[in-house]
Amino acid sequence: MTAATLRLGISRCLLGEEVRFDGGHKRDAFLTDVLGRYVEWVPVCPEVEAGLGTPREAMRLIGNPQQPRLVTLKSGQDHTRALEVMADRRLEELAGADLSGFVFKKDSPSCGVERVRTYNEHGMPGRKGVGLFARAFLGRFPLIPVEEEGRLNDPLLRENFIERVFCYRRWRDLMNSGATRQAVVRFHTIHKYLLLAHSAPHYRQLGRLVAQVSEYRPKDLALQYGELFMQALAVRATVRKHVNVLHHILGHFKERLDAQEKAELLGVIGDYHQGLTPLIVPLTLIKHYVQLFDVEYIREQVYLNPHPKELMLRNHV
Ligand code: SF4
Repeated sequence: MTAATLRLGISRCLLGEEVRFDGGHKRDAFLTDVLGRYVEWVPVCPEVEAGLGTPREAMRLIGNPQQPRLVTLKSGQDHTRALEVMADRRLEELAGADLSGFVFKKDSPSCGVERVRTYNEHGMPGRKGVGLFARAFLGRFPLIPVEEEGRLNDPLLRENFIERVFCYRRWRDLMNSGATRQAVVRFHTIHKYLLLAHSAPHYRQLGRLVAQVSEYRPKDLALQYGELFMQALAVRATVRKHVNVLHHILGHFKERLDAQEKAELLGVIGDYHQGLTPLIVPLTLIKHYVQLFDVEYIREQVYLNPHPKELMLRNHV
């Protein structure tokens, strides 16, 4: 897969387009200038596409957080139906866009994914809402990775989101290529250590599924696999889990290291464990030995290169 094939949806104002209620934008430099070099954005502004115009009266969610209404702040106009009609139409189009992720604008009553202010009948806000369009998107495409631009300032969340985007793309490519039983087994094999860095229970569950390949029709197997796979990657990878994976990988070639090399590698893994260096440091040394000793099984592990190195995501986790 090439990164150029990645297509991500995005709340249009994050690209710097002046579509906000006040005629402004919320350009996000990481998304436009860094991630934008690797993906093709599919911009969506639910409120403009619902015909509400720019500038427009500010809106908020009111009522039951599970089923809120979108109402203008001063004049009290209810735009819920307009947003629902827009969402139905646009999601149908997006189903054919082969998206690998979506970056939503936080706090928006249309685009926010979590903790969006929702006001009760007394005008008191709670933080349990989801923007109307974001909710419809999540319902229609439950496996597509989504994130809010605000959370992407956290290096761990950023790395996790982009990793999931690339993983989802690979899984979609597997589906699109026909997903033979053999291809699903291979897919599982090359993701082994990445899965372990997220969730050992999911990894074992996926292993059991793959061990029963002959009992499933290939397409059903790949579908079930994809659902569990994306659930696994949504579990946060931690330093402790990464350290465990690094030791597993070391086990594949440690007998070929002399005492000094082994001590050096264990030292950098230990430094990473204590928070003295980022993940990229032990990984770089491990990759060096994997190349040097030509350890094929490890060399093809997605864990070593889950996203373009130019994004430098593992320099910060
Ligand atoms: S948050 Fe969503 S609805 Fe609001 S301006 Fe941005 S894209 Fe449009």
